[in-house]
Amino acid sequence: MRETLAVPLGDDLDLVLLDTDYSDGSTARYQVVVRWEENSEQGDAERFQAIGTDGSRTAFDGLYDPEAGRHLLALIDSSSTVGPIRFLREPDAELPVGAAPRVMGAEQSNTSVVFGTSAIFKAFRRVTPGINPDIELSRVLARAGNDHVATLLGSIDTDLDGEHYALGMVTRFAAGSAEGWDTATASTRELFAADAAGDGAASFAEESRALGEAVASVHRTLADELGVSEVAFPVDTLVQRLRVVAASVSELAPYVDRIEARYRRLADRAISVQRVHGDLHLGQVLRTPQTWLVIDFEGEPGQPLPERRRPDSALRDVAGMLRSYEYAAHQRLVEGGDPADDLVHRARDWADRNRAAFCEGYAAAAGADPRDDADVLAAYELDKAVYEAGYEARYRPAWLPIPMESIARLVG
Ligand code: ATP
Ligand code: MG
Repeated sequence: MRETLAVPLGDDLDLVLLDTDYSDGSTARYQVVVRWEENSEQGDAERFQAIGTDGSRTAFDGLYDPEAGRHLLALIDSSSTVGPIRFLREPDAELPVGAAPRVMGAEQSNTSVVFGTSAIFKAFRRVTPGINPDIELSRVLARAGNDHVATLLGSIDTDLDGEHYALGMVTRFAAGSAEGWDTATASTRELFAADAAGDGAASFAEESRALGEAVASVHRTLADELGVSEVAFPVDTLVQRLRVVAASVSELAPYVDRIEARYRRLADRAISVQRVHGDLHLGQVLRTPQTWLVIDFEGEPGQPLPERRRPDSALRDVAGMLRSYEYAAHQRLVEGGDPADDLVHRARDWADRNRAAFCEGYAAAAGADPRDDADVLAAYELDKAVYEAGYEARYRPAWLPIPMESIARLVG
């Protein structure tokens, strides 16, 4: 680990960027907000946020320190510059500077701190040079007044070795909201309950319809603000991805030719592209007491930034959401082993109804039904299902039947 940048933000608070070399030759740059405390008798270094000691001082993860959290928010509120670090409040944004901060539960790629009930600060742990699409698109959507995103309130960035790095962002916290995945799987749990009459499935269709409207609204704003262009359908990219996955997933072998044929049929097709979400699924949407919000515009994880910011078909996002409905419907079945026919039918029916409702809502708000472009939509669904097959074969073999069943149906 090498320290690349250490900026004192206060008496005992540093913003640090560290470089790590991995054995495969790659390097990665990480951000750590370090809070220093004088060592006490009780052995502070044992506390889980402790990073290490330096003489008489112990370093802690500053994001877990309420005082440090409030200080960071105050720096954003005053749009301060500290050394090379720029803190920026969005025009007209109101930040809850006095509110109590608390770190959100783990299991995320970044660290998020919630302030009271009105703001959430996401500190990027791993930082990469370039424009961060989450901040970029959140800003565009907030300034255009779109109601289906978490409004951007502020951000932190810096320049290092002539390159731009985004370090964090603050958005309005959606109090009392539930993740789309949780609301959807709560509906399927009802559906699988022994004497389910199917009403639960019907009621979620209204949610799916509203979700389709919200996604269409976000797409429309992004198109209006950032433009639309036409490109040839990316046949070669999809074929390439298919071959890479097929080389390691033998279950795909019976389908490869048919999938490729479906892609090649689109070789002469021109498609509209625009800025999109890029990694849309039920885990990236929040149901607030009022409406649906789309969050986390970081794009496809693991891809380089320029790739993630590249205009793409809005149908790719739609396909991502449709795939997510397949997972929400079937995850409980694959976990339970060999499911009864009746449950398989209920799951199929739930997925069909909610996928259709999502597309209907999308069509109502966008003025065009994604299903009108059935070939292109199916190609994006196949592309995603092939990616899933690669992932499941490697990490969760019990789940492989979910993408495989979809692939069989899509090319059948
Ligand atoms: P992951 O690695 O899971 O994608 P992440 O670090 O990229 O996480 P987000 O996806 O932006 O972070 O947010 C993680 C979770 O925090 C969300 O699933 C949601 O539960 C919660 N969350 C994020 N933004 C908000 C918000 N504005 N209001 C309420 N909750 C939020
Ligand atoms: Mg996320």
